[in-house]
Amino acid sequence: MLRPVPGLAMAAAIGSAIPAGAQPAPTPVTGQGWQAFDLAEVTLLPGPFLHAREMTARYLLSLDADRMLHQFRVNAGLKPRAPIYGGWESEPLWADIHCQGHTLGHYLSAVSLMFRATGDKRFRARADHIVAELAACQAASDSGLVSAFPEGPQLMAAFIRGDKVSGVPWYTLHKVYAGLHDADRYTGNRQARAVLVRFADWAVAATRSLSDAQFETMLDVEHGGMNEVLADLHASTGNPDYLVLARRFSHKALLDPLSKSRDHLDGLHANTQIPKIVGFQRVHEVSDDKAYGDAAAFFWRTVADTRSYVTGGHGDGEHFFPVADFGAHVFSPKGSETCGQYNMLKLSRMLFQQGGTVAHADFHERLLYNGILASQDPASGMATYFQGARPGYVKLYHTPVDSFWCCTGTGMENHAKYGEAIYFRGDRSLLVNLFIPSAVRWAEQGVTLTQTTTFPDEATTRLRWSAKRPVALALRLRHPGWSRTATVRVNGQVAAQSDRPGSLVEIDRTWADGDVVEMTLAMAVSAVPLPGSPDIVAFTYGPVVLSGALGTEGLTPGDDIVVNERKYGDYANTPFTPPRLAGDVRTIATRVTATGKPLEFAIPAADGSAVTLKPYFRIAHERYATYWPLASA
Ligand SMILES: [Zn+2]
Repeated sequence: MLRPVPGLAMAAAIGSAIPAGAQPAPTPVTGQGWQAFDLAEVTLLPGPFLHAREMTARYLLSLDADRMLHQFRVNAGLKPRAPIYGGWESEPLWADIHCQGHTLGHYLSAVSLMFRATGDKRFRARADHIVAELAACQAASDSGLVSAFPEGPQLMAAFIRGDKVSGVPWYTLHKVYAGLHDADRYTGNRQARAVLVRFADWAVAATRSLSDAQFETMLDVEHGGMNEVLADLHASTGNPDYLVLARRFSHKALLDPLSKSRDHLDGLHANTQIPKIVGFQRVHEVSDDKAYGDAAAFFWRTVADTRSYVTGGHGDGEHFFPVADFGAHVFSPKGSETCGQYNMLKLSRMLFQQGGTVAHADFHERLLYNGILASQDPASGMATYFQGARPGYVKLYHTPVDSFWCCTGTGMENHAKYGEAIYFRGDRSLLVNLFIPSAVRWAEQGVTLTQTTTFPDEATTRLRWSAKRPVALALRLRHPGWSRTATVRVNGQVAAQSDRPGSLVEIDRTWADGDVVEMTLAMAVSAVPLPGSPDIVAFTYGPVVLSGALGTEGLTPGDDIVVNERKYGDYANTPFTPPRLAGDVRTIATRVTATGKPLEFAIPAADGSAVTLKPYFRIAHERYATYWPLASA
């Protein structure tokens, strides 16, 4: 647990200005932590996030759960109801990774989240159907194990025994565990809990004979967030067996150095590690084991502060590399796997909620716009695998039913849960964390707060109270690290001014029906150098990464919807020469001018032509450049 120190930018606390370029010290927020609102209590209003959710909803409804259940039924000795899907689910090209069945787990999580967020009963019906089918598989096979490996249940037996097995079996099973957990949590399906418990009891029994050393050897293979879901199940059932198993599933080769603040991540597969860390944090939360919490806190710091691109993404070819080598990796078409962003987003939110700092929330926001929202094709609803920064490259998205990558699965979940971090509640306080058009209903306090904004197109957000009767509450608003100032008005009068980026502004008063709060932030274009390579820069505007929008020359519509994620870098590979920028990193941002269109800017290229800059999250179906090597002016 991070050390709790209250540090709020209090109302009307006008201090000395922060010198230009100074990094605000992270301000711990609270020791008590912030509680999330239920997804059902948060309503998304029209804007890019609601659009993304609706595109995912459409995609989820277009899929056939019986096709995902095909091999689960076969393995249980039941006749399948529909033919199997392709891609990672059944194509021989991917047979060796043993991800068959992962899509069902992600899908079950996604429809459960979507039901909770929208109340649309069609999603609950999908979840109910899958849960009933998995229960039928358990009954028919007389085993807790539900799996879709073509080798049947023998695959797990062999893997646990220590036989050589290719791929990532526990990773795949984790998605099914998590799906059942989410169906229980978000749809209230008690059968999901029963199937999950039986599945978990199978894991307890199947691994009981392993020595700690044998278990640790097994964990050398990617195993998703097994420790997270078992800690969750311990929390919801109280059964200590699941906490014991969560600890056994916690990879000590990672836990031990991280808990001692040692970064040994060079060369490690990034998204193998992050879910383990999410699990460390979850074990810490349910058991108060300090080493687990220390490891999670340190991992987040070292990845967010030293190993991430400006978008919040990380890695090249899915692996962490030495920090000194950023310049050799930044232009790879295989940077920033979207699953890694999904998991860093989750870790950032968890740490923020557990007494973290505004830096956690700022990084979460950065990932949300430039990793998660940016990953979805707004036209088709399909999602990216890599979001690399090869200059002039395009975003490549999965097909509807022939890819089923890991990032297809996390992509199903990403856009269903935007309501999870816009607002939080404390003891008698309400925190506005994200500036997304939405409303939150806090039934116990008898209030609804409705947020209206076109942020980041404007630097302002408006909040209107609906209250049955006047209510005394502290309203806290995140003053992000990227904004020099924050001004808060209540009913048109300035109520607070903050010059402490990376803090919370607090307005503690009695709120009446119709009271209006308006916060205005300061957004500006900045040039952000690449770690270790100060002559390679990206541009930001507030939390938004700006990319060069480089047109569609040589691209054919539809070429960016692809089957094989291994061929990123080969697809859409017609030669293209991106424009070059010249100048000095310290002054280049001053050459960026607004075009007059929302969030659109221009900067002169070295050859005198104009380069249009626009939010990376709005880039789709066109070439882009995010990082620029600066030639001498
Ligand atoms: Zn992925």
